[in-house]
Amino acid sequence: MTLRVCRECDKEVSTEAKVCPHCGISRPGTKFWERHLLLISVCILIALIWIANLSSRNSSVKTDVACDKKETARVLRLAREGGLLRKIDAQRSVPRVYLGPGWYVLELDQKKAAAYVFICEAYGGRFPADPLVVFHDSRSGEQLAEWGGLGFRVFK
Ligand SMILES: [Zn+2]
Repeated sequence: MTLRVCRECDKEVSTEAKVCPHCGISRPGTKFWERHLLLISVCILIALIWIANLSSRNSSVKTDVACDKKETARVLRLAREGGLLRKIDAQRSVPRVYLGPGWYVLELDQKKAAAYVFICEAYGGRFPADPLVVFHDSRSGEQLAEWGGLGFRVFK
């Protein structure tokens, strides 16, 4: 027989007691979650179904987009020649793009357009539904931009 403190009167009762011998409350030795196991299970089940629904809806809307091969090649060549792009490291779990000084002279929309193409290259010709790529200064290592869950964000 295991003893526990009654949830009402704080005196010791058996975990198997149906009624507390001190205060008369039913199932005194049980915790809230033990008394409401079924209700809690149902809530968890509903939550799981809801999450499954949500993620399947997301995946049906968001899909990878194929990039224009010619345009990607053209922009990459220009970016390399113009000192904008130094290296794309796609081997990491989060691909990194290393940028040269050309980055700093671009306008925001030009940065975004260039970043889009670099991501296409990093992901093998597709722009992923949920991209995550970080952009660094190739010399200082400083993070300049990020394309992730919050969209395209430029820091420098
Ligand atoms: Zn009691």
